Amino acid sequence: MKLQDGVYWYREKGVLDANTYVIRGEQTVLIDPGLGNYLGLLLKEMQEDDIAPKEVDVIAITHLHPDHCDSAAALKDVSGAKVAVHSSQWEYLDRLLEEASRVLGIEAKKFEVDFVFEDRLEHTELKIQHTPGHSPESICFFAVDKKTLISGDLVFDKGIGRTDLPFGNTEELINSINTVSALDTELLLPGHGAILKGRSNVKRNYDFIREHYLQWM
Ligand SMILES: [Zn+2]
Ligand SMILES: [Zn+2]
Repeated sequence: MKLQDGVYWYREKGVLDANTYVIRGEQTVLIDPGLGNYLGLLLKEMQEDDIAPKEVDVIAITHLHPDHCDSAAALKDVSGAKVAVHSSQWEYLDRLLEEASRVLGIEAKKFEVDFVFEDRLEHTELKIQHTPGHSPESICFFAVDKKTLISGDLVFDKGIGRTDLPFGNTEELINSINTVSALDTELLLPGHGAILKGRSNVKRNYDFIREHYLQWM
């Protein structure tokens, strides 16, 4: 589903799946391909928006939990896209995917990495914010011109990411939420559930999170 020029949203297909986002620009980036079982359905939905698998240049992930990255290898196969990870994800690649798979009871497929990025994704407008807490290698993607934040499992519509999974850290989560809430965001795109449109709705959501979660942590 097209949200605005160059920004597409594909809703999670089941409890153990994640929202997928496609950012079109000089390069087309697909963020969080989700669970392998739903890849066919995802590609069909993308096709309805005239996005062919071959158009995807880069596959990136917000973090290494199987509900977000399980289908990375399969999508790479059908699209020919390059898989890119943040330096912190590179550091945790094997052990975190294995640990998280064990705890969540999903055997996540391993994938090959083509390149590692740091604070921005080359040939795109995406800036990277390292936002540990839900997991140590969680990142957010911020499309500067579009004022769009892809927040992974850091913040949701009226919710925040859990910190009880392997290597989770509550203090880091709070710091990360404070960091991203300072970004001028008109479109907030979380890893699960609904999206938030409009600066005032995004702000209201951060206020809700502070009041209902952060002050009790
Ligand atoms: Zn997660
Ligand atoms: Zn998730």
